[in-house]
Amino acid sequence: MDGGALDALRARIARAAERSGRDPGEVTIVAATKTRTPEEIRAVVAAGIADLGENRVQEFLAKEPLISGARWHLIGPLQRNKVRHVVGRCVLLHAVDSIRLLETIDEEARRIGSVQPILIEVNLDDDPGKHGCSWEALPALLAAAAALPFVSTRGLMGIPDPARDPAAAFRRLREARDRHRDEYPDLAELSMGMSDDLEAAIEAGATLVRPGTALFGPRPS
Ligand SMILES: *Cc1c(COP(=O)(O)O)cnc(C)c1O
Repeated sequence: MDGGALDALRARIARAAERSGRDPGEVTIVAATKTRTPEEIRAVVAAGIADLGENRVQEFLAKEPLISGARWHLIGPLQRNKVRHVVGRCVLLHAVDSIRLLETIDEEARRIGSVQPILIEVNLDDDPGKHGCSWEALPALLAAAAALPFVSTRGLMGIPDPARDPAAAFRRLREARDRHRDEYPDLAELSMGMSDDLEAAIEAGATLVRPGTALFGPRPS
């Protein structure tokens, strides 16, 4: 990472927050580390990034012991047979999208005696090829999660189709969070926005943004 990338990213966040009357301090950067080397990751941590997000459990397991001074998030989809590798080790699981997965996380968290913070991922554009629960399933997932003592649901996550209307999708996720928050007061977080759509996400209320290329440069293809 060149030192200017983090400054430029922070300036983008500050401008978007200002435009929408928000405090930039409400927006946490979770640096998306997929494909990045430990050296690259250490450089962003040294520059002041405290939250790292990995997509794949295997990559998380390989990198986590090599990086000190950061919190890890799992931002990619999680399979039930990998749950035991991340519960208690990731501060937040962003892409939980089924009741069965919630139950497996609860069982593992109970086993190790901790409560696991999670987000529910919504399939914003109802795209059958994408992860996330449907809009229709969201209320049932929130209710199921609330009944599990070792899962703590902190908010919602979503990845819009850039070819449709990301700003509208972000606003819809925010409205869903606001609506359900009366019943579930812990729903504080909205994980939305990557390098190309940070501004629209922040204007819609994102509290966690997940830039990768904006920090590390283009990914090797
Ligand atoms: C890759 C990825 C990101 C970062 O994407 P960029 O376009 O590099 O900013 C964020 N979130 C998830 C879930 C990702 O897979």
